[in-house]
Amino acid sequence: MDPVNIPRREIICLLVFMLFAGIGAFWTHLGQALYRKEQRFYMTELIDGQASTIEQRLARSLSAARILAENVRQHRGLFDGFESFADIVMTSIDGVSSLQLAPNGIVRHIHPLAGNNKAIGHDILLDLRRKDKALQAVEELRFIMAGPFELIQGGIAVIGRAPIFLPTAAGEEFWGFASALIRLEDLLKATELDPQGRKGYSYQLSRVNPSTQKEEVFSRSTTTLTTDSYSIFIKVPDDTWKLIMSRSDPTPKWRSTTGYIASLLAGLMTAWIVYILLKQPDKLRRIVNEKTRELERLAYHDHLTELANRRNLSEQLGRVVKEYERYGRPAALMYLDLDDFKRVNDTMGHEAGDSLLRQVADRLNGCVRSSDLVARLGGDEFAILLLDPESIRDVSKIAEKLIHAIEQPVILESKAFVVSTSVGITMIPVDGTDVPSILSNADMAMYSAKKNGKRSFRFYDNSLQTEAVTKLQLEEDLSAAINQRQFVLHYQPIMDLSTGKLSGYEALIRWQHPERGLLYPDEFIAVAEETGKIVAVGYWVIEEACNQIKQFESEAKLRCRISVNLSPKQFREPELLVNIRDIVLSAGVDARFLEIEVTETSVMEDVEDAIKTLEQLKEMGITVAIDDFGTGYSSLALLKYLPVDRLKIDKSFIRDLATDRSDKKIVQALISMAHKLQLEVVAEGIETAKQLKLLQHYRCDYGQGYLFSKPVPVDNLPLILSGIRT
Ligand code: C2E
Ligand code: CA
Ligand code: CA
Repeated sequence: MDPVNIPRREIICLLVFMLFAGIGAFWTHLGQALYRKEQRFYMTELIDGQASTIEQRLARSLSAARILAENVRQHRGLFDGFESFADIVMTSIDGVSSLQLAPNGIVRHIHPLAGNNKAIGHDILLDLRRKDKALQAVEELRFIMAGPFELIQGGIAVIGRAPIFLPTAAGEEFWGFASALIRLEDLLKATELDPQGRKGYSYQLSRVNPSTQKEEVFSRSTTTLTTDSYSIFIKVPDDTWKLIMSRSDPTPKWRSTTGYIASLLAGLMTAWIVYILLKQPDKLRRIVNEKTRELERLAYHDHLTELANRRNLSEQLGRVVKEYERYGRPAALMYLDLDDFKRVNDTMGHEAGDSLLRQVADRLNGCVRSSDLVARLGGDEFAILLLDPESIRDVSKIAEKLIHAIEQPVILESKAFVVSTSVGITMIPVDGTDVPSILSNADMAMYSAKKNGKRSFRFYDNSLQTEAVTKLQLEEDLSAAINQRQFVLHYQPIMDLSTGKLSGYEALIRWQHPERGLLYPDEFIAVAEETGKIVAVGYWVIEEACNQIKQFESEAKLRCRISVNLSPKQFREPELLVNIRDIVLSAGVDARFLEIEVTETSVMEDVEDAIKTLEQLKEMGITVAIDDFGTGYSSLALLKYLPVDRLKIDKSFIRDLATDRSDKKIVQALISMAHKLQLEVVAEGIETAKQLKLLQHYRCDYGQGYLFSKPVPVDNLPLILSGIRT
């Protein structure tokens, strides 16, 4: 993960969160403020309206007292139509609860009387609570409002009193009062201040009592005022009232809280989404990185052992070479090839083979430092790149350690196996400083180690190079040899030991090299085998041998068998049977006179397949012999299943036959065993009469060797034949 990106992404998310939560909070706050402002405006409007309604209503209602007073004055006292007059006044002026006349301050007339009769006879000027105001009205000759106070007949009311003065001769004389009583509940009915609080407002009406100077609440709603209240003063005659109002539906607190919480959540949500979006490229990058790593692992590692692969080794080598050039650091490259891996793979199966390779990989890793590179190059080939080795001795010690480690028994399916390894070593920079030659040096050294006997190591040196060059040259020359007919066959007689007569010939190849003279098979067969050229060479040999059979027949009137050697590679060739049949047919020979010699080891590589091939060869009429018998791993028991005619006992058993007791026993046993299996036996490499005698004694069927004749060119054969006859 890119370290720079972590804080940057988080900061962006934080900013987004702050922005969105901030905007949300601001909106909530703005909404709230607007709401409150609106409320205030509305409330001031409302309270203003209520106040002026009260004011107007009161003024109007009180004017009823004045009208009544005026009428009394005009009638010079109480007049007959008071009741009907009062009725007219009350119906035309709302809010008046009752009208009274109090001559000399004593209430005598009330309209309507019902419910108010208690007040009849009440002397206002004697009433302690009323008289002050009443006297004030008389003294100041003006209309005065009193109250609010509790009425004798119940309820709260204000009362407006107009003093009535009648004209007399001496001037004006006080007659009494005309009063209008206004019950508060009637007054308030015209307003929205419903005493029951039904309209959702709370209110309170009060005034400061002029005598006590204390605030006196005379009307309030059943619901209590909230803190968020509004007040206004109402000018009423001779007094000031105070109206306080609030809306009982309080500013919904939860609404703002919800708003803030919602803003917070919105901020969080947006930040989260932004976070996820910002993480997408990261995630993608991570996936790409993982895939790249995976691909790199696949490209640079061996999937079976998890070791580095060939490509990885080559690249590391390139790096090592550069490091040497820059810092002068030496290195060593080792090539290892397991000596007997194929045997394990064939006998135990591929899974066991894989398990063996993994164990070998672990052991190799255990022998070197972690800074060294262990690689698997494929099959049973491994390589180790040693960095900064201290000395050649040091490298030798490591090679010994490796060989020893590999030689420890491996347990596969509860069976112990012992495999060994051959190691080739090349030193960098001493032996070379370019990757291809380092690789080929190690390879050459390894092959040489293998050739010189397994379980060993060998350092690269120049002689290997010369060897390699010669080999390369040989490879080139081989290609030309077939076309230019440089090969020849020499024939070695095979004698019937019981009769002493000629039984046949073994055809042995020689190469008439234009520069190097006559070359024997041990000088070129291995290279031909390695390069695959042996297949073409082999067919040439069969063809030549068939032609020779034909020639013997037509020219010398000699009918005898010719044996040819078949290389392991050719034996596995899919076209083998078809090709041999073609050759035999086109030469026009009897297949019974052709014998094919296959080595024990080439049969052992794939026994089932070998049996099939051998069977088909026999079906064609060709004789089959197992060559070099006794040198391979095959068990005698297996012979039973092989469709062959003859066994050729390897010459290494014959060489010391006259002197070596165990060789005698082996050869004797082999012969009797083969006979039991209905197989004929040929002894190779008979050089002495003593050997011949012994073999005859053991009832060996046929013999071949210098005692009878060396392999010779066909032209020399008649001589030999006659020689044998004598
Ligand atoms: P091989 O099939 O075991 O052939 C017998 C070898 O023993 C021949 O060596 C022969 O010269 C040698 N020999 C015969 N009698 C005696 C004896 O009394 N004493 C000793 N010390 N040696 C004796 P050569 O011709 O050098 O061939 C060597 C090997 O090369 C052959 O061993 C065979 O495996 C291979 N070879 C020869 N010709 C061919 C061929 O045409 N095709 C293939 N694929 N391999 C061939
Ligand atoms: Ca042979
Ligand atoms: Ca042989």
